[in-house]
Amino acid sequence: EGDINSQNVYSKEILSNFPLCAKNLFNGLQQQHHLRYNGRQQLSFFLKGIGLSADEALRFWAEAFTAKGGSMTMDKFNKEYRYNFRHNYGLEGSRISYRAWDCRTILSKPRPARGEFHGCPYRDWNVDKLTSELAAMNLTAVQMNSILESCQKNEFTIACTKVFENTHGQTGMEIDDQTHIAHPNLYFERSRQWQK
Ligand code: SF4
Repeated sequence: EGDINSQNVYSKEILSNFPLCAKNLFNGLQQQHHLRYNGRQQLSFFLKGIGLSADEALRFWAEAFTAKGGSMTMDKFNKEYRYNFRHNYGLEGSRISYRAWDCRTILSKPRPARGEFHGCPYRDWNVDKLTSELAAMNLTAVQMNSILESCQKNEFTIACTKVFENTHGQTGMEIDDQTHIAHPNLYFERSRQWQK
């Protein structure tokens, strides 16, 4: 099994390890062939965290932004966006290596406006949209209610942890410091491990 690259990141297997926030960004990117700043940052750091190298990341973003159906040229991408993605890998500017955003950081950013995809769906989506997403994950009514209840209590990472457990054969586990998921990259890693 090889590393994650700009092609296999689109595979069903790898996408199935994404938490909902990352899945949402991915869908937004494919729909719009673009993401606004906070979305670019959130997804870029997440992908870096799952092991996409700087070279592969540039390939990934260039392909996504200039994909058929969109209007961006490679020239525009190179002029306006290349720096941003290189910067996120510490290859430009201050050369700090930035760490993937945890849920707390994600929740501290301004909420997504229309046409934006950053943030946390457990906070930002309305009940209808969230319910149909959860139903598509084959969750039971009891499981869905419990997740929606956590959302109502502003316990978004608990909601996310419950989704993880319900979709990874771990129903009924207690959520404690060991099992609580408060970082999208932790969600990904646990999901990957479970899959193996
Ligand atoms: Fe992403 Fe964290 Fe929200 Fe889960 S709780 S969807 S990992 S931001």
